[in-house]
Amino acid sequence: MTHAPHPPRRRTGFTWLGLWTLGALLAAATAQAAASFAGMPTPPPDDGKLRIVAFGAHPDDCEIQAGGVGALWAQQGHHVLFVSVTNGDIGHWREAGGPLALRRKAEVEAAHKLLGIRGVILDNHDGELEPTLENRRTLTRIIRAWKADLVLSPRPYDYHPDHRYTAILVQDAAFMVTVPFFCPDVPALAKNPVFMYYTDRFQKPSPSKPDIVVAIDRVIDRKLDALGVMISQFAEGGANGSAALYPADAAGQAARQKQVRENFSRRFLATTARFQKELAAWYPGEAAGRVKHSEAFELCEYGAQPNRAELEKLFPFFR
Ligand SMILES: [Zn+2]
Repeated sequence: MTHAPHPPRRRTGFTWLGLWTLGALLAAATAQAAASFAGMPTPPPDDGKLRIVAFGAHPDDCEIQAGGVGALWAQQGHHVLFVSVTNGDIGHWREAGGPLALRRKAEVEAAHKLLGIRGVILDNHDGELEPTLENRRTLTRIIRAWKADLVLSPRPYDYHPDHRYTAILVQDAAFMVTVPFFCPDVPALAKNPVFMYYTDRFQKPSPSKPDIVVAIDRVIDRKLDALGVMISQFAEGGANGSAALYPADAAGQAARQKQVRENFSRRFLATTARFQKELAAWYPGEAAGRVKHSEAFELCEYGAQPNRAELEKLFPFFR
């Protein structure tokens, strides 16, 4: 059977259609690759809102360090993703393994719901995180897929190996996110994000020195509620807890939850007290004195280096 040749115009039309189809398929495949990590939420639309990815080693680290700014961004419609790089499956004194990982997933998802943000947990074992090439690729893909403007991470000086290696992995991804032939399955970012560290109390080799301090009083109750629902970690004490901490009776549990809440409130009050000088740079005059609870962030030397106006755009909380 022979086919009559297509007239040239029609062939051209068919070719363009073919190219369009191929392009559409490639775009779909790229979106699929970008969103195909286990549990990775579909990246948000390009709507001009800020895009933030916070990394923590365990399902509770981002929430402690950035739950306040996370809620503040979410209130303004910005797109926040909290990533736990391990599944937290040894983070309890009584239970471990898959059941604990699932319990912590449910807890942190409840916390994210309260904060109004998205989250993903990578299926690495707690206490066993390593700065491998595969993990570097995964973090690179997540930052690219989210098209992050800002990436938050712990500093690499920390008592916990998972926290240290999370920091190393983010540092290792900080340049690679812009390199097209590293993980070419997810398009490289045209613009390097800003990378910032959470604050901590470690002094060697250098103490935490924040570049921005943000008042979180407007959302402090929401943040404390979000931390409160992670019962395995705080009310029950996590890896170093004990049965005595969280009794079976309702009154005992309420008293323990109140204690957890007060401890966290004190911690975020202490951030304000500790960084008065840095805070005053962002809340001039009497405004600084009105700030109670805060979160602080330090600029990483890798990635984009924002000036003050650019930092104000990333943290639009000062007017
Ligand atoms: Zn942790």
